[in-house]
Amino acid sequence: MTLQLHNTLTKKLEDFTPQQDGKVLLYTCGPTVYNYLHVGNWAAYVYWDILVRTLLANDYTVERVMNITDVGHLTGENEGDADTGEDKMQKGARREGKTAWEVAEFYSEDFLAGVEKLGLLLPEHMTKATDFIPQQIDLVLLLKEKGYTYQTTDGIYFDTSKFPTYAEFAGLDLEAQKAGARVEFNTEKRNPSDFALWKFSPSDEKRDMEWATPDDLLELPANDDEEIMGFPGWHLECSAMAMSILGPTLDIHTGGIDHIPVHHTNEIAQSESASGVKFVNYWLHNNHLKADGTKISKSLGNGYTLQDLAERDYSALDYRMFVLQSNYRSEGNFTFENLTAAKNRLRNWRNIAALRHQTHDTLVDDSGKSISLLAASQAIIEAINNDLNTPEALRVIDQAFAQFDGKDLGDIHQHGLTQVLENIDAILGLQLIASTPDINDETKQQIIKRQRARDEKDWATSDQLRDQILEKGIVLRDTSSGSIWEYA
Ligand code: AMP
Ligand code: ZN
Repeated sequence: MTLQLHNTLTKKLEDFTPQQDGKVLLYTCGPTVYNYLHVGNWAAYVYWDILVRTLLANDYTVERVMNITDVGHLTGENEGDADTGEDKMQKGARREGKTAWEVAEFYSEDFLAGVEKLGLLLPEHMTKATDFIPQQIDLVLLLKEKGYTYQTTDGIYFDTSKFPTYAEFAGLDLEAQKAGARVEFNTEKRNPSDFALWKFSPSDEKRDMEWATPDDLLELPANDDEEIMGFPGWHLECSAMAMSILGPTLDIHTGGIDHIPVHHTNEIAQSESASGVKFVNYWLHNNHLKADGTKISKSLGNGYTLQDLAERDYSALDYRMFVLQSNYRSEGNFTFENLTAAKNRLRNWRNIAALRHQTHDTLVDDSGKSISLLAASQAIIEAINNDLNTPEALRVIDQAFAQFDGKDLGDIHQHGLTQVLENIDAILGLQLIASTPDINDETKQQIIKRQRARDEKDWATSDQLRDQILEKGIVLRDTSSGSIWEYA
């Protein structure tokens, strides 16, 4: 079955075909590292991890770039003009009494720790915007040479009227934007949709992160003794990192739906103006997660972090399961009730996974067994190939695992079970195998002893052994064919 993805560019579900046979060039907009990520941000990265795993399951090799935005993302984004306001990194620095560099390092490390906890595959290239300043300057220079830029008091801007298809991607109404342009916004802009490629540092502020603006970028060269310091615009960063590593045309570019009208629209305008070719063939956008039915926002106190979840005894993998319960294109709702449901589902699945330690194969495949998992792996791939339909994949797995209800260990084909668990882990990253180690020999001996005590109707010894085993986090479930152990 072919992989189908919903493309924001065409607003249709399309068969996926990369430019090169068997290889996918992928770019994911990464986090701005001025604070901890909240559950909404993490949901986005879990979904794009599923995309990569889906591509791998379809035998593609993937080359992915994910950026770390550590400069130039301004607070004005939230007030309707992304070229105004304070650099989020400077804001973080002020809040914590550190430099922007220290803040970037701290939250980048925390991001990487979260990536590890959630079992997200590492991109081939994890790039910091501040490591790509020359590439960003080169891109602005190219745009200037081609006549797309103009200079204002506070920076070098892209003239969106020179990119005739600017409004198409997001279906923008540029006339309405002009009519409604708020006067307090930058009056030097030729069009309200124009955006900064390179901003000059404010003359009254010493920024932690700033670079000399090359004379070639300026309409009038600076005086010899006075350098004009500046920093890149947020949109420019993504275009420069994507194109300098992956080339002018990407197969897939991902981000949140909030990126469609400004950030990605601007990426397309500047990238295609510079290269003269199509920037991205498939655009994928994740919908936003709400929390307790409302927009996630730090001020509402619902911007839960992975640490907040851990303090309430939910693991990152519990959270991963929660994310998979919704499709990436639907608006999810985070509640602790939903998270508890995910946690319980994961615990049940782990206990199924643990059964592989308790059974031995006598047959080459599971054809003679009453539990058959042969079709499940294929059905999981079919579900995710349908535009990453993770809720359907979970339903398929629940259905396959429901076959275990009321069955004996003798009905389980160990190899068949292990194989389906490996496939689930590869596609959904739930680490079912790694999180379900076998019990040690001592515990196994205790289980045998307890079984013997039961056979001899020595209930006191049997109960005592059960308690000792429970202390190790293992519960016993007695069935007609003997006792099965589970994680408590
Ligand atoms: P930022 O660090 O603000 O650039 O955001 C990082 C990523 O999280 C971006 O891709 C956003 O689109 C995404 N994002 C922000 N809020 C949410 C949310 N509530 N649900 C899902 N994704 C979100
Ligand atoms: Zn981006």
